Amino acid sequence: MFKKLNILDEKDPHLRKKSVDATFPLSKEYKKTIQRIIDELTYSQIEEYSKKYDLRPGMGLAFPQLGINERIIVIVHEVEEGIFDNYVFINPKIVSYSAEEIAAEEGEGCLSVNREVEGHVKRYARVTVEGYDEDGNKISVRAREELAIAFQHEIDHLDGILFYDRIDPKKPFYNENELRLI
Ligand code: ZN
Repeated sequence: MFKKLNILDEKDPHLRKKSVDATFPLSKEYKKTIQRIIDELTYSQIEEYSKKYDLRPGMGLAFPQLGINERIIVIVHEVEEGIFDNYVFINPKIVSYSAEEIAAEEGEGCLSVNREVEGHVKRYARVTVEGYDEDGNKISVRAREELAIAFQHEIDHLDGILFYDRIDPKKPFYNENELRLI
């Protein structure tokens, strides 16, 4: 049976704290929570289920959004229609990034931000992220474009940063000559 997660709103202080490293072995509870996040993010991106369960589409979630200030992120990336790649990173770190920067043309959204926030969020076009899987094995991924943005957005949550903190109030929008918009 599907039970919706209780995702905290941006006003909750958990969203503004710096999270601590998670320790191994991960508890059964945490592993269950990770699976629930994967399920919910997947459902949220499938129209039939997003309607049925009233889920706002989202591709990532970080533990602080559930009130747990430990460094765990989950990303469910739709690579083609109905095909999803799951990324579970414990204690993720960006170990290298491209000189090139990009922004999502439509701006970013966040499951903890229940309002429209306009503006371009500058992100690295490509990042290499290292971390650990649920069993404590070292893992890494080279992410680009939309997936790179998702990793940067979720890792920001671990440091108490929300996407709109990175929108320059003096220059919230860029044109194609200034920044590649995807
Ligand atoms: Zn978010």
